[in-house]
Amino acid sequence: MDIGKGKTTEKMSFTEAENRFTEEKGRGTDLLVPYARSNIERCMCSLCPVQADSKCAQDKLQSSGKAMKDMPEGEVPNPEDVPGIYCSTGKATCRDLNFDRECICGTCEVWKEYGLEEVDPNNHFCLHGRAT
Ligand code: SF4
Ligand code: SF4
Repeated sequence: MDIGKGKTTEKMSFTEAENRFTEEKGRGTDLLVPYARSNIERCMCSLCPVQADSKCAQDKLQSSGKAMKDMPEGEVPNPEDVPGIYCSTGKATCRDLNFDRECICGTCEVWKEYGLEEVDPNNHFCLHGRAT
């Protein structure tokens, strides 16, 4: 049933690993954004002021970026190791984020593609949890 939330995504196809993580993350919820490499790579969280001074997030950013470079095609890192794509994976695990700062999800192609302006929450997914 189309209840006007978000946008349909049937044109995309995802790998086995991406579908597995998306299912695990979205279990019991109406998850909107697949946990997929194409979405991880377009995520703007790495540039966000909310995480800029977080040692935890910056460390994870470095290590997950390196891990992804070495990973076979179609594989995805563990969501806990990626400091971003919170619209898919939910609240940040790092505890030193500054939520008083502005969220830049509105500049993100994933946000636009999945119509996240129409859902609640539609920003600061690292604080409020995943988009459903
Ligand atoms: S909408 Fe926000 S959390 Fe989701 S991929 Fe884009 S920048 Fe990351
Ligand atoms: S979800 Fe929004 S506030 Fe949180 S890190 Fe990503 S862009 Fe920044």
